[in-house]
Amino acid sequence: MSARQLRHLGIGMTSQRTRERLVRRLHESGVGNPQVLEVLRWLPRHLFVDEALASRAYEDTALPIGQGQTISQPWVVARMTAALLEGRCLRRVLEVGTGSGYQCAVLARLAQQVYSVERIRRLLERAQTRLRELEIPNVRLRHGDGSAGWPERAPFDAIMLTAAAKSIPGPLCDQLAVGARLIAPVGTAGSQDLVRIVRTTAGFAETRVGRVSFVPLRAGVE
Ligand code: SAH
Repeated sequence: MSARQLRHLGIGMTSQRTRERLVRRLHESGVGNPQVLEVLRWLPRHLFVDEALASRAYEDTALPIGQGQTISQPWVVARMTAALLEGRCLRRVLEVGTGSGYQCAVLARLAQQVYSVERIRRLLERAQTRLRELEIPNVRLRHGDGSAGWPERAPFDAIMLTAAAKSIPGPLCDQLAVGARLIAPVGTAGSQDLVRIVRTTAGFAETRVGRVSFVPLRAGVE
């Protein structure tokens, strides 16, 4: 066990109960997918935020992760993951916006292989360390502008954007397999539509599945 894991063992044990409480609340507020709830019950969210914020990790709220970015609210993670799954078996999944690595770790429990792209190197490195320490093996991270997707690994069964796009970047739609779906917050700062796109043999079908609030998708890398 690593030093960091040891340091977190105390809070890890007491947090099991707070995690249970969070999952119960999510269930009450309409998250019905038992697979998703099971993953959130298991995954220690407090390891994905700074130690100073660890005691708030099981509140249903977004929290700062540095560099002006946030780890998404658990309810949003649960909803978006459930909207991507809907009873399907996921093989290859692409996430745009690794951030803390939390959503990525959730997806890794539910898919065979997860690819995730982050534009801020500092965040990417921290996420990489966390995922390694948690021994989550089926994740590949990349430093880059996720608007271009990850063409070498395409096509994907599912793509999730965790930063708000003004419109969905074309290359991401191109990298969906037929029958695959993409979920993304679309709109300007503050509040966005959560949009789901399904690729059919005829083209793309788009539906709006709710309202969310995400940090913006930005071009280039830092
Ligand atoms: N999924 C993350 C949420 C992070 S917030 C989590 O679970 O913690 C959104 C992230 O998207 C930020 O880290 C931000 O740097 C990143 N981002 C914004 N625009 C991006 C782009 N074009 N390519 C890759 N990452 C991007």
